[in-house]
Amino acid sequence: MTLTGTPVASPWREARRQLERAAETLALDDGLHRMLAVPRRTIEVAVPIRCDDGTVRTFLGVRVQHSTTRGPAKGGLRYHPDVTVEEVKALAMWMTWKCAVVDIPYGGGKGAIVCDPAELSLGERERMTRRYASEIAPLIGPDRDILAPDMNTGEREMAWIMDTYSSVAGHPVGASVTGKPVIVGGSGPRRAATASGVVVCLREAVRIAGLRGPVRVAVSGYGNVGRLVAELLADDPEIAVVGIADVAGARYAADGLPIAAIGAELDAGTPLAEVPFGEPMPRDALLEADCDVLVPCAVSGVLDEHNAERVRARIVVEGANGPTTELADELLAASGVTVVPDILANAGGVVVSYYEWVQALQAMPWSDEEVATRLEGRMAAAFGQVRALALEYDVSLRRAALCLAVRRVADAHLARGLYP
Ligand code: GLU
Repeated sequence: MTLTGTPVASPWREARRQLERAAETLALDDGLHRMLAVPRRTIEVAVPIRCDDGTVRTFLGVRVQHSTTRGPAKGGLRYHPDVTVEEVKALAMWMTWKCAVVDIPYGGGKGAIVCDPAELSLGERERMTRRYASEIAPLIGPDRDILAPDMNTGEREMAWIMDTYSSVAGHPVGASVTGKPVIVGGSGPRRAATASGVVVCLREAVRIAGLRGPVRVAVSGYGNVGRLVAELLADDPEIAVVGIADVAGARYAADGLPIAAIGAELDAGTPLAEVPFGEPMPRDALLEADCDVLVPCAVSGVLDEHNAERVRARIVVEGANGPTTELADELLAASGVTVVPDILANAGGVVVSYYEWVQALQAMPWSDEEVATRLEGRMAAAFGQVRALALEYDVSLRRAALCLAVRRVADAHLARGLYP
């Protein structure tokens, strides 16, 4: 709620409310709760670049380091025209919990540049990325804060950031970013890692719910995460991907969509809303479509108090960060929908980032099989721990995941003590 009482999906408000709830369940010391509610550092930088037409444009860049208690800050870099400093604070806090849930030795961070990437030429994008990296260079690095891809960024941006950071340092620093190209020390399975983790959680949730095949899955958001989730599920005879959506529209087929054929169409440049398979559907209608499992993989706040009661899925697996508002969470719980929360469901990306960082620090690559096996094991273990806590405290998986994470961060803080 705003001060005027209007409900607004504000990720930062949502994130702090979630922490508040977890603190209540854990009976966390008030001072410790207040400390965890504030990021350790919020860095705002000006990112001026020379555009192709000779003019100079200045973008706002931000990097938030929410926590460094369990290890260096860790998290992605997002390019989006609507991203705000407050949203980045929420995303950074979620990274802290995410790393703690899967028990990897990181704090949490997130960065963003407020820009419309579709408006930038390749050269402008590179100059913007490099200038941002050089502005935050004194505060990042392998043992301070490690960047990774997020919305509208990928390998290419990570390679530019690694190169800029290395140029500033005067020597190659592979562990300064994760999600970089394989040729410069990236991890082969990193691209599909978030989706792989989502799929591990989805299968566990389906098994526990006792759903019988073919389990009908709808995937909303068809980028880095959503498309790969659909593609990983497509070969499973027990699963039918019945609906997919991107920002412009959706397709739906009650008996399953041909995901490989759709991928070929998309690669050939056909917009998702126009692929010649299934029926067209408005983008947001997919969230309410007939299915067993809904996997939101796009932006925050898509499930809110306006549509939550119309969700027909029995399970929601959050591939995106923060797709469900607090009110929606309550409504979903009231109608018996199980929500596998983002900080658990989409943690596969940062888990493989962690493996990539370890390999860079050791200068010793692992095989793709080893990475994939470790990822599956870690995700399944984290799911098991969260579920056990949910049963013990009789709370939702989200509350249990937050409690597990907050407890780990709080205990690490108490062990280290407060300086000075
Ligand atoms: N951006 C991804 C996330 O939100 C990955 C972060 C990382 O690998 O550090 O989890």
